[in-house]
Amino acid sequence: MANASRGASNVPRERFDWEITANSDQSFENALEKARSGVRLTVEDGIELLTTGTDLQGIDRERKELVLEAADRRRREVVGEEVTFVANLNNNVTTACNTGCLFCNFKDRSDAFLADNDVDHAGFTKTPAESREIVAQAIETGIYEVTSVSGLHPAFALDDEHREILEASDRSDLNYKPPERYEKNPGTYCEQMAAMSVDDVHLHSMTPEEAYHARRGTPWSYKEVYSRLADAGLDTVPGTAAEILVDEVRNVICPGKIGTDEWVMAIEAAAAVGMPTTATIMYGHVENEAHRIHHLDVIRDLQDRIGSITEFVPLSFVHPNTPLYDRGMVDAGATRDEDELMIAVSRLYLDNIDHIQSSWVKYGDNHGLKMLSCGADDFMGTILSEEITKRAGGGFGEARSFAEYVEMVSAIGRIPVERSTDYQQRQRIDPDNPPFGPVLGPNADGTPLVER
Ligand code: SF4
Repeated sequence: MANASRGASNVPRERFDWEITANSDQSFENALEKARSGVRLTVEDGIELLTTGTDLQGIDRERKELVLEAADRRRREVVGEEVTFVANLNNNVTTACNTGCLFCNFKDRSDAFLADNDVDHAGFTKTPAESREIVAQAIETGIYEVTSVSGLHPAFALDDEHREILEASDRSDLNYKPPERYEKNPGTYCEQMAAMSVDDVHLHSMTPEEAYHARRGTPWSYKEVYSRLADAGLDTVPGTAAEILVDEVRNVICPGKIGTDEWVMAIEAAAAVGMPTTATIMYGHVENEAHRIHHLDVIRDLQDRIGSITEFVPLSFVHPNTPLYDRGMVDAGATRDEDELMIAVSRLYLDNIDHIQSSWVKYGDNHGLKMLSCGADDFMGTILSEEITKRAGGGFGEARSFAEYVEMVSAIGRIPVERSTDYQQRQRIDPDNPPFGPVLGPNADGTPLVER
């Protein structure tokens, strides 16, 4: 294959001495044939497709197109021509976090939030009452999902019983300080869930990492934690904090976070108490293609066991304001070729998850739309406010109206469809019948959600 057709890869394999490397005894042609015929792919097949062949260096654009084509065909077979999106609000409770993940610029060291500390910081903490007010206002506009992902504030406890345990403990490794020490009290996790559960809004919150924080210092199982959160109002769980579910990568980019087994255990527990989850991958930093495929393999195995993962969300690493970039551990994020292949191979590898999301916050509008012809069928949500990617240097905006969705999805010849968080409710939107607004939520009457 001519070098001129090959795209660069930003995966800096040579900087890290990984045990898992992107090698395979499979051929690209065999792997592609298996993908086309719907045979379940092996890790080696996945590596061949994601690298466009380990027999060649870099990405071969002609082979890439074949992979994208196979994925687009699979998408059509599995979910048809509909492109879904949800009317939601992001309400993140706090940026206070001491975990120190190197890909993250969302957090602020929690000491900066102490009442007796004069350090200036751009972070925030919301009380339960403040969260409730923000959600109540958004529901008035017609949203019906609240997504809430937060830093691991040391004052957070699951509930009053958990706080008593933390207060009584003399362990110094629990990352706990009483709320009175801080300028703002985030309350307990259960109080935040109850506060955000306004008018039956669907509450999507408490990642496995947050669930770990909510049980620290106790013998409680994840099932116990998620049961209490469900009683307080939690409906479904975001499968974020997954990053790359391979511990040699986690040890580099987020050594303070839970390991792969613990993440899987938390998602299994959410499933056991009847809560569907999503699953994610954050790629395009220090990992190689083999790590990405091993991650997909963990997710596919998990889904075989629980069957309650509603969608898979590939998140392209946004590098500019992150420690990984500042320390010279990465030069950039993934290339567009890598993004397209990640979406496509996710569609082909995850034969037990129906929906693959294209995140316009990570990819931007044009590139995000392109992903809908590479295997993706969901185009995220209105979100109304976005802090995590923005703080990492992403510049693709914070809100999306239904009118914009209808225009963009129709422009590529697909069918715009409003959906509920769990995809159980779906409503096709007629592009010839404006105005466009959500109809599925408690206060959703078709009025446009975001006026520009
Ligand atoms: S990714 Fe989450 S846990 Fe890690 S530092 Fe950022 S806010 Fe904290």
